[in-house]
Amino acid sequence: MTLDLEGLYPPRLDLAQLPTPLVPLDRLSEQLGGPRIWLKRDDLTEAIAAGNKIRKLEFVIARALEEGADTLITCGGVQSNHCRATAVIAAKLGLKCHLLLRGREQLPADGNLFLDQLFGATVTFASRAEFIALDQLLSSTASTLREKGDKPFCIPIGASDATGLWGYIAASEELSQDFERHGMTPSHVISATGSGGTLGGLTLGAVLLDQPWIPMGFNVSDDRAYFDAQIRRDVEIWRDRYPGPAKHLPSEFEINITEGYKGPGYGIPTTEVLTSIRTLAELEGVLLDPVYTGKAFFGMVEEIRQGHFQHSEDLVFIHTGGVFGNFPFRQAYADVKVQ
Ligand SMILES: *Cc1c(COP(=O)(O)O)cnc(C)c1O
Repeated sequence: MTLDLEGLYPPRLDLAQLPTPLVPLDRLSEQLGGPRIWLKRDDLTEAIAAGNKIRKLEFVIARALEEGADTLITCGGVQSNHCRATAVIAAKLGLKCHLLLRGREQLPADGNLFLDQLFGATVTFASRAEFIALDQLLSSTASTLREKGDKPFCIPIGASDATGLWGYIAASEELSQDFERHGMTPSHVISATGSGGTLGGLTLGAVLLDQPWIPMGFNVSDDRAYFDAQIRRDVEIWRDRYPGPAKHLPSEFEINITEGYKGPGYGIPTTEVLTSIRTLAELEGVLLDPVYTGKAFFGMVEEIRQGHFQHSEDLVFIHTGGVFGNFPFRQAYADVKVQ
């Protein structure tokens, strides 16, 4: 019997447009000659707040409001999708938003940074060295705001914490309904891994709902050991924070991460990745992003070519968004040809 999660969820805001579509990429699948590839369109969860972060923020910001917050503080890279989504939602809810961005100000502001400012977020830049002591940076920002009379709430990078895990637990329930409707049983549900919350939620979701598919992350930063430890840490906090649902989670579960597609580093796409983004755009009318989905999708296609999914009939790739991240790469795209 699959677990009924109804009644086990913590407080949640209604922010995302759900359910998102699940669509087959038949021209690409035919070209590759492997499994049928399906795209879960989480790039359509909203307009400007679109992507995977909004699913986690539905739970994380609900918690912030419960605690009486009127200001959201969060952090990320200069082109953080998570920060952009937080800025949009803060505006929508009438909250103030402070963003701590790692790196130097880019002028003129482009992509996500341009949107952060358009939606009225206060943006501060911090050096990589300052970012290493991130917790300190967040808490000193929070105490400065508290002295001013604000009621700040700190959201971790990527909204990946114990509460944020609920976003992709709920998405797993949505996926199980999608698969039932389509009469399919995919072998894997694949996504890009950047702070771990999406893969963590998908992993818990599949285990709690006793589903047969394997959630699989392609890391775009750090490595497998890092994410394994990070996700397990968040799950332990999740167990303590949500003892009711935690009763249904076995003590042992696997976390699947495929390495090898990060390229030169976080936020640096290879020409191969940009080429595959352009190719998919022209072939299927779908735009990935150069930092997350482009790398993971390229990784999945390479693994299909190498025969790693030869026993799969259906594969699902979650398009976690990030489309605005393409704009700062316009120069790099100029040299990229479609294959
Ligand atoms: C943040 C992000 C991811 C990674 O999700 P995590 O939960 O942080 O691992 C993937 N794709 C896009 C577009 C993102 O913005």
